[in-house]
Amino acid sequence: MGNKITLIPGDGIGPEVTREAKKVIEAAGFKPEWETVNAGEEEYNRSGQLLPPQTLDSIRRNRICLKGPLTTPVGTGFRSLNVALRREFDLYACLRPCRSYPNTGLYPDVDIVIVRENTEDLYAGIEFSKDEKEIDDIIRIASKKGEIKKPCGISLKIISEEGSRRIVTFAFEYARKNKRKKVTAVHKANIMKYTDGLFLDVSRKVAEGYPDILFEDKIVDNMCMQLVKKPQLYDVMVLPNLYGDIISDLCAGLVGGLGLAPGANIGKDTAIFEATHGSAPKYKGQNKINPLSMILSGKMMLEYLGENEKADRIERAVREVLAEGKKLTYDLGGPASTSDLGDAIAEKVRQS
Ligand code: NAD
Repeated sequence: MGNKITLIPGDGIGPEVTREAKKVIEAAGFKPEWETVNAGEEEYNRSGQLLPPQTLDSIRRNRICLKGPLTTPVGTGFRSLNVALRREFDLYACLRPCRSYPNTGLYPDVDIVIVRENTEDLYAGIEFSKDEKEIDDIIRIASKKGEIKKPCGISLKIISEEGSRRIVTFAFEYARKNKRKKVTAVHKANIMKYTDGLFLDVSRKVAEGYPDILFEDKIVDNMCMQLVKKPQLYDVMVLPNLYGDIISDLCAGLVGGLGLAPGANIGKDTAIFEATHGSAPKYKGQNKINPLSMILSGKMMLEYLGENEKADRIERAVREVLAEGKKLTYDLGGPASTSDLGDAIAEKVRQS
């Protein structure tokens, strides 16, 4: 890996939050050559391309990318570019820590790390619309197992043994490396016996190789209730793609919202760091949104690069600024702007 990092500012609030992340990373003394390239809805309106080849080439060359959120139209229109990027670079592990910080959130003592499978499940994008010819073939095969009412759409949920093994192994390796005590596998294997059942079966087998780490499993609906009532009981959680997506937002809500939810998409040799949240278009250009998710995603990038001392200084600065409570954005109950909060963190990092 060289000294270059691909930077995708993204759509909506993306340019505002990536600007603050870059500012804080540089304040910590990490000054790479940023290769800024574009993707997303706004890039499409500018150049007619959603994911220009030079953007993919840049990630392919640098193998590390800091990325703002990208808009995906709901219901119709183009497919998610985020999903496309994860699949293009086989970024199979989505790592999303949800930790309590001072002055924020519903609980003072949550410390959960979500490990979401990032390439399979209903996100494989294998869908058939009610108007497609092929749907009749699928219905003919599927109706041997039960009645299907037409017209209908069909999305296939794909869970493979190999995909399950590598994500569960990632979760256990993460737990061991970070001195975590427990891994919880989340599923709906009581209903989806051949997909979630396979995920659970593989989870149990992988767990046998890690006798030093506790293993348990939970059905996803119960998991939601448990998390809202007793989130302190959970440590590392490993989930198929869709549950991971939903539970990430639930856990973000426990610790103060999407403004405090960083993330990483990690593959064998490439990683893209991005916040859990989306492009929040209604806040675009207002210098209002909380930049901490993106700043903390930048901190995760530094850890990935082995720059642990710089990453620790950013983590401490975030804690101290939140504890002081003078520069809080609207979502945390304060009047500070995006850049006020970013400046306060950068200043604290410089002083540390
Ligand atoms: P969103 O995460 O963009 O915003 C939902 C709400 O959460 C916002 O209205 C705001 O109230 C709050 N919020 C989000 N980020 C915040 C922050 N940093 N600080 C404070 N509050 C924050 O979700 P959405 O409105 O459902 O989606 C908007 C677009 O983003 C959609 O096109 C969606 O597909 C896309 N999206 C992209 C990604 C990604 O790029 N990884 C992830 C999720 C959604």
